[in-house]
Amino acid sequence: MKVAVVGCTHAGTAAVSNIANLHPEAEITVYERNDNVSFLSCGIALYVGGVVKDPQGLFYSSPEKLEEMGVTMKMRHEVLDIDTDNRRIRVKNLETEEELDDTYDKLVMATGSWPIVPPIEGIKLNNILLSKNYNQANTIIERAKDAKRVTVIGAGYIGVELVEAFQKYGKEVTLIDGEDRILSKYLDPEFTEVIEEDFRNRGIRLALNETVTRFEGDTNVSKVVTSKGEYESDLVILCVGFRPNTQLVKGQVDMLPNGAIIVDEYMRTSKKDIYAAGDSCAIRYNPTGEHAYIPLATNAVRMGTLVGRNIVKPTTKYMGTQGTSGLHLFDLSMASTGLTEKAAFSAGMNVKTITIEENNRPEFMPDYEVITLKVVYDDESRRILGAQVISKADVTQSINTLSVCIQNNMTVDELGFIDFFFQPHFNKPWNFLNQAGLQVI
Ligand SMILES: Cc1cc2nc3c(=O)[nH]c(=O)nc-3n(C[C@H](O)[C@H](O)[C@H](O)COP(=O)(O)OP(=O)(O)OC[C@H]3O[C@@H](n4cnc5c(N)ncnc54)[C@H](O)[C@@H]3O)c2cc1C
Repeated sequence: MKVAVVGCTHAGTAAVSNIANLHPEAEITVYERNDNVSFLSCGIALYVGGVVKDPQGLFYSSPEKLEEMGVTMKMRHEVLDIDTDNRRIRVKNLETEEELDDTYDKLVMATGSWPIVPPIEGIKLNNILLSKNYNQANTIIERAKDAKRVTVIGAGYIGVELVEAFQKYGKEVTLIDGEDRILSKYLDPEFTEVIEEDFRNRGIRLALNETVTRFEGDTNVSKVVTSKGEYESDLVILCVGFRPNTQLVKGQVDMLPNGAIIVDEYMRTSKKDIYAAGDSCAIRYNPTGEHAYIPLATNAVRMGTLVGRNIVKPTTKYMGTQGTSGLHLFDLSMASTGLTEKAAFSAGMNVKTITIEENNRPEFMPDYEVITLKVVYDDESRRILGAQVISKADVTQSINTLSVCIQNNMTVDELGFIDFFFQPHFNKPWNFLNQAGLQVI
């Protein structure tokens, strides 16, 4: 069995190591245009902020490790064309410029995603940077040294993490977003307001509900102009979202309108013997039961692992995702899973919510912190569809528990009576998740 894998960050690395372990007879060739594998982008903000000192810790594999497993690693090789009818690929060696052809029995698309770069006037000026891979992380760190005023465009989780890192680094930071609040996809307003206030108190300028209209500067960017204002900037980081990297198989396999490849629960695309995993794919989103584009490393490693298990015969199904994610910003820990109330209403769903405020430990303990938890549930079936939590205490694991509840179609009524332990160091006799469930009668 000749397996060609295109792309080797998280989905690719997981697929390759699992195929090599489970099917030692497979002849695996990896084509990766970069010079490294398995870089954890989640560490970029920590690296920029100086929390991570040694960036080598942000890699958990290497071309050499995969080669030791018997895999042929074609690093700095870009796949230019894929002919899925004839199972042929055309590849360019980026070092020598040579082009070569290869064939496969099974193809794994792990080409991931690339940051969206909107066609804004001045976008090509120096010091307007992207934040996705290792080389970009190093460029950000290098350019940040001389930058006094940093502007981050896009208030998703990548943008806000960078804002924190630059603020701690002592920069004057502006965060611009076209939405009227930060983190709008992950949290409802009562949560984002708390974080926004914290940001403002720390001197971070929030330019929300503003669209960038142009960048100004000679060679380097010096100003970001928006629909409402102008922001002097020495460095701009663009974090406005990701697009799946799937041009190579466009028109050859089924995709969502944004180009995300649709896979079934065994990671099979609509074309026989082509598998896909990670940010290049759409995956079943359990709260709605529909395919959705949720580019997360967690989904990528699970899907890559499943490619390994299913590449010879369908064996293990993917259970779908809730898009569960967590963040730590200054003193606050927060996490969310499934639908926010806003997202549910936008999707035309009839939902209700419960919000509770509770201390994380009994008040007789020397210290305790307030937790805010919100649970979103279907008004009719009472099925839990989403949840968000924020606190100075780290109670983010509770959101993983609620992710399991969504995964298993549990109702908000059941939540009140799930068996959780009690010990005063950690919680109260009624766990706050139980308390949320007990609010609905
Ligand atoms: C700053 C940042 C922070 C993040 N933080 C988190 C986090 O905390 N938690 C979390 O779950 N997720 C996080 N993510 C998301 C996570 O990094 C992605 O979901 C993950 O990288 C997806 O892995 P992937 O292997 O599917 O795709 P990618 O990481 O996009 O990798 C695709 C690979 O394919 C290669 N490739 C593409 N086209 C070709 C071609 N034609 N020929 C050869 N090679 C090709 C690319 O070079 C690349 O190496 C973060 C992302 C960023 C950018």
